[in-house]
Amino acid sequence: MRDEKYDMKKISAGQAHPSSLWAATATPPSATPPLCESRTADVVIIGGGFTGLSTALHLAEAGASVCVLEASEPGWGASGRNGGQVIPGLKYDPDELNLKFGHKKGELLIDTIGKAADTVFNLIDKYHIECDATRNGWIQPAHSDNVMRSLVKRAAQWAERGAPVEVLDRASVAQRIGTTAYVGGWIDHRAGSIQPLSYCRGLMRAAQAHGAAIHGNTLATNLERQGRHWHVTTAGGARVTAEHVMIATNGYTGDLWPKLEQSVIAANSFIVATKPLPAQLSDSILHGGEVVSDARRLLLYYRRDAHGRLLMGGRGPFADPHGSQDFSHLERSLALLFPQLAGMIDYEFRWAGRVAITRDFLPHVHEPIAGLTIALGYNGRGIAMASTMGRCLAQRLLSSGNADFPFQISTIQPIPFHGLQRFYIAAGVAYYCILDKFS
Ligand SMILES: Cc1cc2nc3c(=O)[nH]c(=O)nc-3n(C[C@H](O)[C@H](O)[C@H](O)COP(=O)(O)OP(=O)(O)OC[C@H]3O[C@@H](n4cnc5c(N)ncnc54)[C@H](O)[C@@H]3O)c2cc1C
Repeated sequence: MRDEKYDMKKISAGQAHPSSLWAATATPPSATPPLCESRTADVVIIGGGFTGLSTALHLAEAGASVCVLEASEPGWGASGRNGGQVIPGLKYDPDELNLKFGHKKGELLIDTIGKAADTVFNLIDKYHIECDATRNGWIQPAHSDNVMRSLVKRAAQWAERGAPVEVLDRASVAQRIGTTAYVGGWIDHRAGSIQPLSYCRGLMRAAQAHGAAIHGNTLATNLERQGRHWHVTTAGGARVTAEHVMIATNGYTGDLWPKLEQSVIAANSFIVATKPLPAQLSDSILHGGEVVSDARRLLLYYRRDAHGRLLMGGRGPFADPHGSQDFSHLERSLALLFPQLAGMIDYEFRWAGRVAITRDFLPHVHEPIAGLTIALGYNGRGIAMASTMGRCLAQRLLSSGNADFPFQISTIQPIPFHGLQRFYIAAGVAYYCILDKFS
């Protein structure tokens, strides 16, 4: 069976994005002209999403010369098409991270990820990025008493570390979200929402204002080290020579570096957006502007946007969507959660994008050889985390590795039988469905 991947060569040559949302919003290519002539830089970054752009911005702020190469245009990947939920933290609870990494390293990581949403909102404030930013908290509701017990522990562990969180009872969750589907939950007031493509473009403009060169429609095709320098070749033939290279291609990683693509599962996440909800329903569903992602393994995530639309995201088939029928599972979930919407709503947008899932559900940072840094694998939690990763990586590069770095540097480990990733995903979906039913 053919493993469906994006053909980055065609994307770089201007092939349309599969999402209707994207087609409506593409930026003029003049903002990020392709690389036509060879050049030098201190750091060359491959991939123009949150990871690449946040790193570029923080490096350029400090005076480094930075060049970003993006196969399509900045935000073309997951960064421009995600659910817009700015959530701090990783999929692990703080105490689990302490057990995994030991107290000192664990607490450094917990502190960093706990402040990850601050990183995003501080950048938005500092650079006046217009991206419909709100900060009304993230509700994680529980679908069973068992799950509720684990959420109470999660909230307690963050509260012990001073985070503004609250446990919510059944009535409070029902009142805030507008559904009786849950037994309770918790809210993390550090979280919020953004329009992701606007935020991504804001990072891009801020980096450009500090002198970073950002080249769209520029596919990096090869990396080669000669002495202390790297040469990055692009599809058009121009090269960038730099002392340092960073790969930030996440769920769109190809074969630039051996075994990297095989170290993550590139899974599709699907989103549907309704037309703005009618006024009589607006007050009953997420009227406080919180974002929600539930505690299922196959989670549903949803929020209202600045125009009053209801956005609902979740798993999808491995293949890219071919039509509205590929989103019907999300529309069914939305109808089950909010029966009051029956017959009242139409859908305006449907789209999908790739998240990079790692085997240990942690972001991966690799430094396989001097002068090369790779960061990927946010497991669907990348707005706050990739923005933070960029800040931390820039500090690491600027201090020649001497700054406290909260993430573990690991070796690249390919997932066995990676060619079968579509079957992994199908088997994982079936298995998690069963676990969710019995939890
Ligand atoms: C549908 C969806 C919903 C999501 N919802 C949320 C959410 O609500 N909250 C949250 O925190 N996270 C969410 N995420 C995850 C989040 O969007 C990602 O973790 C984050 O955007 C990753 O950023 P990145 O810069 O590492 O990768 P990306 O944004 O994917 O960027 C990688 C870029 O690399 C480029 N590229 C690849 N190969 C090359 C090459 N050879 N040369 C040049 N360029 C190349 C690609 O064109 C792409 O633009 C969601 C993701 C998806 C897909």
